[in-house]
Amino acid sequence: MENFKQTSQRLAIIDYLKDNKNHPTVEEIFKSVKDKNPHVSLATVYNTIDMLKKRGIISELTINSTKRRYDPNPNYHHHFICLSCKNVFDIEEKINITLSEELKNSYKIHGYEIDLYGYCNNCKKELSGID
Ligand SMILES: [Zn+2]
Ligand SMILES: [Zn+2]
Repeated sequence: MENFKQTSQRLAIIDYLKDNKNHPTVEEIFKSVKDKNPHVSLATVYNTIDMLKKRGIISELTINSTKRRYDPNPNYHHHFICLSCKNVFDIEEKINITLSEELKNSYKIHGYEIDLYGYCNNCKKELSGID
């Protein structure tokens, strides 16, 4: 029975993360899953996240090291972080950067991920006072 419970809680966590575009934190995952599964424990959430991370199903964002967020989007993408509402958005657009010869010679670079900062559409409107 205990096993069954754990499995269904695990599935609830996986279900919540699937196609989730909000880059939720552990607390957010826990809160949301707990709504439907009152017996879920924070430890189960942590364990499941760990398992999904190891399998490469989700990735951990370290934009804020004290508040890690999780991302199930398997496509190569960049992020936009809103300085006001702190939401993190996926940027799937190709961004080209130019590396100096020095960098290219010093390292064997495999790729890059860009974190863009600013204000999202909602917060931009609030800032300018236009609704
Ligand atoms: Zn915002
Ligand atoms: Zn993302």
